[in-house]
Formats: sequence, structure tokens, C-alpha cells
Amino acid sequence: MKEQMFGFGCMRLPILEKGRPETFDYDKIESLFDAFLARGFRYFDTAYTYHGYECEKAVRRTLVERHKREEFELATKMPLRDFKDAEDLEAIFEEQLTNCGVDYFDYYLMHNMGLNVYEKCRQYDVFHFVKKKKEAGKILHTGMSFHDTPELLEKILEEYGDCLDFVQLQINYVDMDQPNVRGRECLAVANRFGKPVTVMEPCKGGTLVNIPEEAEQLMKAYAPDASAASWAFRYAASQPGVARVLSGMNSMEQVQDNCDTFSSFVPLNAEEEEIIRKVTEIINANTAVPCTACAYCTHDCPKNIAIPQYFALYNSIMRTTGSFSSQVGYYFNLVHAGHGKASDCIKCGQCEKACPQHLPIRELLEKVTVKFESGGFFPTRAKK
Ligand code: SF4
Ligand code: SF4
Repeated sequence: MKEQMFGFGCMRLPILEKGRPETFDYDKIESLFDAFLARGFRYFDTAYTYHGYECEKAVRRTLVERHKREEFELATKMPLRDFKDAEDLEAIFEEQLTNCGVDYFDYYLMHNMGLNVYEKCRQYDVFHFVKKKKEAGKILHTGMSFHDTPELLEKILEEYGDCLDFVQLQINYVDMDQPNVRGRECLAVANRFGKPVTVMEPCKGGTLVNIPEEAEQLMKAYAPDASAASWAFRYAASQPGVARVLSGMNSMEQVQDNCDTFSSFVPLNAEEEEIIRKVTEIINANTAVPCTACAYCTHDCPKNIAIPQYFALYNSIMRTTGSFSSQVGYYFNLVHAGHGKASDCIKCGQCEKACPQHLPIRELLEKVTVKFESGGFFPTRAKK
């Protein structure tokens, strides 16, 4: 049972060249997948769009072609922004089976459901498309990953609940009450409709692995050997109605630590919950931009602005009291690698339509511009 609670998220697999998500480090991926399976876990979560649309093929090569079908469970997702019409739904689904090298998917989700794609999904009835695939034996469990308001979740579950076996939600201790996520309320809606929840972003894109020192000390004082990540996973898995927690892992240390957490899983006790509450306050006071580095915003940016990287650098600067020349150096490197500067933003708004965190990206890039491009930090010979 405990082994079913933990899944391997494939959105951030190891790559060989930074900035080129399709350059998979196949040897390393194989060793991570094998170690995960050897510990008794079996759930892998990919998507059509991950790693520049190449992830499903990488999963085929590193997992499907190397292990018996009954040894693992595979989840993938229909890209709701990408499909054009009903015919395209069918074509993409068939392509996904080929990409993954399987005859059926154990779990199949509508990817990144939100208000921006909901009408389109109704128009082409994606909900019944996946339901029919399940009836045909091509999908064992249907679901959706959801990044919008509890009100919309409720509306969808009222209207299409019979097409959905589970929902995938962003649940982590800093986002439970954040107005742009409202994790607690979304979870309550899923519970009310009796839909088991798979958790995505339990560590908020890695943010909860490297937490401020003050917060880390609180955790270490209580449990010296427990990693910050283990606290985040246990928090997510302790919530009512949560059936599974996903983690994107790209090192053996992470795989072993996370497998340890779930092999001997125990829910948080009251004292630990109080520590998490204090840690949340510290982290929120130290996070200027709550970006999860999913990179969805970058796909259609006409200026190729490295939005998540700039936000990570901005957060890093806002946390430091000393010199931030190294962050400026990284910023400079990204621009010279071909990315637009924050000030190159033409405010078209494409990025904000795609952001699952609903961040005011254009406004935030103005702040990045002030930090990185004023005060004589930015080299004048930069191209863009
Ligand atoms: S608003 Fe700016 S950052 Fe966003 S997609 Fe347009 S140019 Fe890129
Ligand atoms: S700004 Fe939004 S879409 Fe872009 S990486 Fe951050 S969370 Fe993802």
C-alpha cells in the first residue's frame, strides 16, 4: 500500500545540456528508474509536452523497453492547449501510445485543466473522449491535472464527474492557503466528490528542498536526520483524500531519500504540523515570486525570455543580504545564450495565459528589470 503512494514524476529528468531539455542523460535515467522499481515503487508520470515533447519517447526507451509491462504503471496526459479538434485528439492519443510503446495507459489525464481551456474541452468533449478510451480498455483510470479555482473544480466535477476517476492537484504546505493556488479548498472539493487526489508539486518545484536556514533549523531541532524534502512529502501525503504523491527526481540521493520516506511512511503528528506552520511563515516571508519553474510560460514567448530562471535569480537576490554579483553573472549568461532580457518583454501576455500559478509575469519582469538591468550591473555590450 505504501508503495502505491509514491510516483516518479518525469517533468525534470536528468539532461546533459542545460537549457536543452531533449538531451536526456539516458544512463542516469535508467539507473534512477531501476532503483525506484527495486524499492518496490511502480508509478511513472509523464506527459506529451514534457521535455520539449520528447519525454514519452525517453520513458519508452528507459522504462518500457527495459521492464515487463506488469512491473510498472504509466500515466501520461492529453495536452489541452495543443489539440486542435476532435480528430486531433484521436491522432495525439495514438501518437502517445506509439511514443510510449504501450497498448494502454494505466492512468491518463487531461493536462493542466483551467478556465483558459475549459470551453475548448467542452466544445470537443474531451471528457467523454477519455471516458470512451477507458471503456475501450486503452485507459485504466481517467483523471485531470488541475490548476485553477475550487469553484471551477466544483463545476467540472458536477458536470463531468462521471468521466473522472481521480484529480491531480498542487498540494504543498506553502500553497495550501495562497490565493493563487488555494490548495486546501481544491482538496476539499475533490474530497467532497469522492475523487482520490494525486499530488503534484509537493516540493513546489524544489523550493521546499532548499529552504531558509531559520526554517531548516526548526526541522533539524525536531528530527536531525530528516531532510526538508521528507517533511514536504509527509505533509502532502498526510492530507485527507490523498492517494499518491509525485516527485520529479534527478539524483540517486533524492530517489533513495524519497523512497525511504514512503517505505516507512507515517503521517505528521500535531507537533510536526505546528513546525510546518512556522516554516511556512518563514518561507512566505522570504519568497518574492512563487514560481514553480514548470516553464509552461516560455513555450509561446516571442522574445524567448527565460522567465523561470530570471524569477529564481530574483528570489535568490531577495533572500541575500550580501553581494549578488553571481546572480547577475547568471543573468548575463542566459542573455548571451540567446534569451531575451526581462526588459525585452513586449507585454503580449502569452505567458500569463499559460502560467498554472496565475502569476502577474509582466509586472514581475519589471521588477526583475530594475534589479538586474539598472545600477550599472548589466554589461552594456549585451546583444538584446
Ligand atoms: S508578455 Fe513578455 S514575457 Fe510574456 S510572453 Fe509576452 S514577451 Fe514573453
Ligand atoms: S512563471 Fe508560472 S508558468 Fe512560468 S515557470 Fe513560473 S510557475 Fe511556471
